[in-house]
Amino acid sequence: MASGREQGRDPVAADNCIFCRIVRGEIPSRKVYEDEQILAFHDINPVAPVHFMLIPKEHVESLAHVEERHQQVLGKMLVLAHKLAREQGSPDGFRTIVNTGRIGRQDVFHVHMHVLGGKDPLPGMIQRST
Ligand code: 5GP
Ligand code: ZN
Repeated sequence: MASGREQGRDPVAADNCIFCRIVRGEIPSRKVYEDEQILAFHDINPVAPVHFMLIPKEHVESLAHVEERHQQVLGKMLVLAHKLAREQGSPDGFRTIVNTGRIGRQDVFHVHMHVLGGKDPLPGMIQRST
């Protein structure tokens, strides 16, 4: 039988990962959507009136760790975003963010796509540093 690592899931990382624990129901979350591959839930520290995240249920550290076999689930996350954003109260667009690694200031190392929105336009994207 293939080990977790051979299947692309690092069992050690997954055991301690906050988002894997949310997937397993060990940490409560306010669920937005769930299917066999994907979970969406509200961010615990929202930075916009609508702020939830879409994650693959499989533990993948970041967008810098995805492989070709993840194309389908990542594509599905993008396809779901507009329907969920609308349902959550962002009727006319939204912003998606995937922070990646040290440069992207990623805090939780389980790949996730933030969806931000609300009734009014969001602030500008990031401040110019120069
Ligand atoms: P990152 O900076 O890695 O892109 O974003 C991680 C996000 O996860 C942060 O916005 C943070 O508020 C959120 N977060 C961290 N721990 C938890 C948690 O236990 N539950 C929920 N719902 N969100 C969390
Ligand atoms: Zn995880």
